[in-house]
Amino acid sequence: METQLENIYADVLRRNPGEPEFHQAVTEVFESLGPVMARRPEYVEAGVLERLCEPERQIIFRVPWVDDAGRVQINRGFRVQYNSALGPYKGGLRFHPSVNIGIIKFLGFEQIFKNSLTGMPIGGGKGGSDFDPHGKSDAEVMRFCQSFMTELANHIGEYTDVPAGDIGVGGREIGYLFGQYRRVTNSYESGVLTGKGLTWGGSRARTEATGYGAVIFANEMLKTKGKSFDGAKVTVSGSGNVAIYAVEKAQQFGATVQAFSDSSGYIVDEAGVDLALLREVKEVQRGRIADYAAQRPSARVVTGGSIWDLPTDIALPCATQNELTGADAATLIKNGVWAVSEGANMPSTPEAVSAFREAGVLFGPGKAANAGGVATSALEMQQNASRDSWTFDHTVTRLTDIMVGIHETCLAAADTYGKPGDYVFGANVAGFTKVADAMIAQGII
Ligand code: GLU
Repeated sequence: METQLENIYADVLRRNPGEPEFHQAVTEVFESLGPVMARRPEYVEAGVLERLCEPERQIIFRVPWVDDAGRVQINRGFRVQYNSALGPYKGGLRFHPSVNIGIIKFLGFEQIFKNSLTGMPIGGGKGGSDFDPHGKSDAEVMRFCQSFMTELANHIGEYTDVPAGDIGVGGREIGYLFGQYRRVTNSYESGVLTGKGLTWGGSRARTEATGYGAVIFANEMLKTKGKSFDGAKVTVSGSGNVAIYAVEKAQQFGATVQAFSDSSGYIVDEAGVDLALLREVKEVQRGRIADYAAQRPSARVVTGGSIWDLPTDIALPCATQNELTGADAATLIKNGVWAVSEGANMPSTPEAVSAFREAGVLFGPGKAANAGGVATSALEMQQNASRDSWTFDHTVTRLTDIMVGIHETCLAAADTYGKPGDYVFGANVAGFTKVADAMIAQGII
């Protein structure tokens, strides 16, 4: 990192102590920006980076709710409205016990550049709670969502801030959140949340979009080397919404998906993943991966080690941050991996990212590779604004065009600033310059 960037980074550390994931996300972007800052003195003069690192607004609130046993429970709610130079704040809500302000800031920071890369008019934000939906009844989840939205409704709106799902927040939660927003505001403001149900303003293909997009991005990377998914062996970590639809698209492209995982371990399915069964277990039964193995003779559960120990052509980390370590990357490289496309946000540790880049493995960073989800959220906003509802095929065509566009944008920026073929560098530079130019045009705010 150059001296000027180091000074700004020192301020970030001083102002945000004890937030390692946030520091990691900032470092990763800063490491790409040396050549840009050298060529664009106006960015330095306008203090763009200093302003970008400080969220425009951070909201932290108490979320009281009553569990099924009649006990009062307290969780903490967050919404970080990070940057609105390109459009209303846009980004998901994560409900997971690990959520704290540092995690939300890392995700919000990433979201700025990701949203910029999509080419859609959306700013960056993120929110969530340390509430754990696992093991809670539907009624408890509903009461929690209602309490959460009672406060959040004061801060969001279709022209202000548009939340969506993330880990722990799917269609069920978005439904309860939307219902409460509608109730407390007395308005049917479809575009205030995305990921809605199809009968009340949701977009077709939104559920599939993040997983599909990560595979489409990987496919574009593979094409540059004359390779494809057809006949390839694929490993997908995770078993949530992103993972499931990454499996589906990889299979549609002719790949064999051999494994997926959750926090209890991973499943190897010698016959290739049975998508219908996986969906039944996860989406209908809300079960664990062991429930899949119990119903599938060709599958076995592995509880020790890492899913990345499996030799694979294409790796799609779709679980959570820092799930793929430097040691995992070394194993994947030793086993001849062709490409890695990040369906999750920041799933590879810095050591893993360096290892892939040094080994020349095609590596699609999350802010580019998983942008299909939020891009399709922007398409949902577009349908809501025009009171329209598109077909599945039309929406997937738009998603595909956006992913192909992001791939081209990354490569073009990498070329322009002197690191051809480096997707990490290209994504950071292209995502940043668009936001920076908009911030300069709009003055010091
Ligand atoms: N949570 C997703 C992400 O990390 C989607 C956000 C959205 O659709 O607003 O990009």
